[in-house]
Amino acid sequence: MTGMSDELTLLASCRLCPRACGVNRLRGEKGWCGAGRLTRVARAALHHWEEPAISGTRGSGTVFFAHCNLRCLYCQNHELSWGGFGVDLSPAELAEIFLRLAASGAHNITLVTPPPYIPQIAVALRLARARGLDLPVVYNTGSYELPFSLALLRDLVDVFLPDLKYADAHLAQSYSQAPGYFATATAAIRAMRELAPADRFTEEGIMVSGLLVRHLVLPGHLENTRRVLRWIAAELGRETYVSLMAQYTLVFRAVGHPLLGRRLRPAEYEAALAELFALGLENGFCQDLDAANSSFTPAFDLTGVLPLGE
Ligand code: SF4
Repeated sequence: MTGMSDELTLLASCRLCPRACGVNRLRGEKGWCGAGRLTRVARAALHHWEEPAISGTRGSGTVFFAHCNLRCLYCQNHELSWGGFGVDLSPAELAEIFLRLAASGAHNITLVTPPPYIPQIAVALRLARARGLDLPVVYNTGSYELPFSLALLRDLVDVFLPDLKYADAHLAQSYSQAPGYFATATAAIRAMRELAPADRFTEEGIMVSGLLVRHLVLPGHLENTRRVLRWIAAELGRETYVSLMAQYTLVFRAVGHPLLGRRLRPAEYEAALAELFALGLENGFCQDLDAANSSFTPAFDLTGVLPLGE
């Protein structure tokens, strides 16, 4: 392993996330998430459907990683997260993609579902920074991860965009196969806050550092939403930036599910918004209910990933 970056050696016995598989990914072993030695990417392109503070007018240079350490029944990106669709890239190839996205006019680089690849991403970001990448880097995660692996991203990631999906342990287990989700995710989000303590924006309103916590309102689970929002207000502070998402989409294993198998009702989202305001969480982003449309999910067709080397 001579010459290998220190963080890549963590893959020899992978305990990057709470699953703590202990597999040797450098030798091709696969753990719970299925991620290997190289980063697997399904799409790298300008994306316009995040919060205005992320997408701006020109779009975010968004890299969608395959394999996830959650298994959400309603995942819009299930071909990647469950199915592992994508192409394997070395850190140097990933750095090249970051630079291409920057050259295409992106406001920032957004990493979607990065937790299984933190060591490789850290190496790629250092390579890209050395070659002139000067955009903010946004880390978009389901938050089932550990402070020690997040610390590998110190000074490399500028904006953390974590989901806080569940306060309810039963929902976390039955909808995402994630035991201990709330304790894990809240510890991870506290670590992110420590890594990016100041919320800062450009004059045009693009977030260049800080924390923006997301929560997707699920149909029929308003109490879960209330508990999540209360935790944010009480523990992170009422000035915290929060994105309350209405884009729940009836896809994949949610179709026909006895509880998840329907769309979010306007009254449910309005009640969630009322809780947000009642708690004094005024730095909020909200969505129109017509965001619940799978057309907001891009095509996972290797756009921007192939061909490399041109
Ligand atoms: S990143 Fe993947 S292989 Fe590593 S501990 Fe988590 S689930 Fe297991």
